[in-house]
Amino acid sequence: MNPDETLAQIASEVATCQDCALHYSRNRSVPGVGPATAEIMFIGEGPGFNENEQGLPFVGAAGKFLDELLAQAGLLRADVWIGNVVKCRPPNNRDPLPEELAACNHYLERQITAINPKIIVTLGRYSMGKFFPDARISAIHGQMRRMGDRFIIAMFHPAAALHQVKLKPTLMADFAQLPSLLEKARSLVSGKSPENQVAKDEPSNPPQQLSLF
Ligand code: URA
Ligand code: SF4
Repeated sequence: MNPDETLAQIASEVATCQDCALHYSRNRSVPGVGPATAEIMFIGEGPGFNENEQGLPFVGAAGKFLDELLAQAGLLRADVWIGNVVKCRPPNNRDPLPEELAACNHYLERQITAINPKIIVTLGRYSMGKFFPDARISAIHGQMRRMGDRFIIAMFHPAAALHQVKLKPTLMADFAQLPSLLEKARSLVSGKSPENQVAKDEPSNPPQQLSLF
């Protein structure tokens, strides 16, 4: 199977999945959307009311804000993959339970393997917890960390920034860094550019980020 076929296969499995209790209350499952060639994957928490109606991720208020953040970073929805750690809506938008996250995890793992992105941006605590189980989001947000052949950047959830106004400029600043971080990820993954050269090319980059590689 090529990556497109793998993503379609996963979407069809998710559509009828009954592997955790979230399937009882869902209207439509939300496998995630975006091209198999995406260099960046955004991973949120789980579908909300509107997502559960439409079967698409981030189409409500948080999604509208995500669109603004993407535009600010010069990115189009069509260029990136957007999905969630659980594919079915938790009742009343409650937090996903550990057993639900565990049951759903293999779909996301297969999606990541098929897409093989340069960067994964986690949106919110549950998605961050998949990669950095013991981290605090306030401590590591916006920092790019290498994991094998790709990089993970934890960010606040757009919905959190809508509810807590003081997080909004922080999230906007983290998104604004994405184009330069993508350039850096490309050169580090391809191995063409030694780290010191990347640093020299980007003098405005805060020095503490380099230590994370
Ligand atoms: N919030 C999320 O975490 N995911 C969505 O798809 C929508 C809102
Ligand atoms: Fe299956 Fe995931 Fe939906 Fe649970 S949340 S029913 S594991 S697709």
